Amino acid sequence: MIDGLVEAIRLAVTRIPDDTVSALQRAYEEEESEIARFNLENILKAIEIGKTESIPVCQDTGTLIFFVKAGVNSPFLGELKGAIIEATRRVTEEVPLRPNAVDILTGRNSGDNTGRGVPVIHWEITEGDEIEVAVLPKGGGSENCSALAMLTPSEGWEGVKRFVVEHLKACGGKPCPPVVLGIGVGGGADYAMGLAKRALLRRLGERNPDGRIAELEEELLKEINALGIGPMGMGGRTTALDVKIEVAHRHPASFPVGLVVQCWANRRAFLRIKPEGRVEVWQ
Ligand code: SF4
Repeated sequence: MIDGLVEAIRLAVTRIPDDTVSALQRAYEEEESEIARFNLENILKAIEIGKTESIPVCQDTGTLIFFVKAGVNSPFLGELKGAIIEATRRVTEEVPLRPNAVDILTGRNSGDNTGRGVPVIHWEITEGDEIEVAVLPKGGGSENCSALAMLTPSEGWEGVKRFVVEHLKACGGKPCPPVVLGIGVGGGADYAMGLAKRALLRRLGERNPDGRIAELEEELLKEINALGIGPMGMGGRTTALDVKIEVAHRHPASFPVGLVVQCWANRRAFLRIKPEGRVEVWQ
């Protein structure tokens, strides 16, 4: 199981998924600005080098975040947390990853990407005997542009769009655009942020199954690209590659909106652990 986790993390940090590479290539082909084409070309080169040389696509290898769907009858449940921590240590040394876990009081770096609360593990108990793990290495620059808005219900969806567009405008080039946006609406402050981050696991171009939410995703994508922030914030047609919205019911008095910004290094990988111990890894 540890070998499988190591493989999934290595894949996530060294190889950008095909959907994101295609979206970046499309952005390059459609771009007219010379500087934007130059920036996209360099991003695509970094991705190609990462793939061919099996090295991280960016110097910031991020904080490792795991989303676990834990089948209640899996024989591996008890050892999974320890295996994730051990795999994180191994990958940090073997790939290597940049050590990104710093003590909140002393500022001391643990050196192996583990520490209090990290790697971050989100647990969901599911039926069955399989475990599915999603790995999301999250860069600090884009994470710094994440935000929460507690809107009033009267502001509604227009308020959501205003908040997201204004916030992205203020961030400019800081999150290393072209970005992917995860937006969570409803549930409460913590839940909205969780939905937003989880939304980043969806493939680019895959719309929310609810047609009304899907329309909002399309509208927001157009509005954000109309800002002209462009690749690496130096102007251009493509500021965002996609927008993903996930929703939950809300309290009648609240309209929470979580926004998680992902950079062009839209890294992710998945792992399935079968009950007999067989492991499948994919992107
Ligand atoms: S925000 Fe993303 S692309 Fe920019 S430095 Fe961090 S990980 Fe790298």
